[in-house]
Amino acid sequence: MVNLKKLQKEILKNKLAKGFNTTDIAMEFCFTHEELSEAFHKFNRGEKGVGEELADVAIYLLGMSEILGFNLEKELIAKVEKNKKRKFKKEKSSDGKNIYTRIRTDEDP
Ligand SMILES: [Mg+2]
Repeated sequence: MVNLKKLQKEILKNKLAKGFNTTDIAMEFCFTHEELSEAFHKFNRGEKGVGEELADVAIYLLGMSEILGFNLEKELIAKVEKNKKRKFKKEKSSDGKNIYTRIRTDEDP
């Protein structure tokens, strides 16, 4: 199993060693978005390398998590559990497609 917190530290260490941005968080969001767009571009054209672009997205997310001081592994696990407990109401649209609407609760508003 991968230790994402350890990976976060390695990613930040590499960014610092190379003199990459670690202070302008808005720019990090833009770079992350750029990598996601690269992944979609390759996917959309049926090109190879989608996985590597998604890895770039994950690297930016992990790097930002380290810069901002939280543990993305813990955040992921907590969110996956939260999502599992969420309940949805299923309805049909006028054209017969399924529409899912989350049922809000006091615990998960
Ligand atoms: Mg890339």
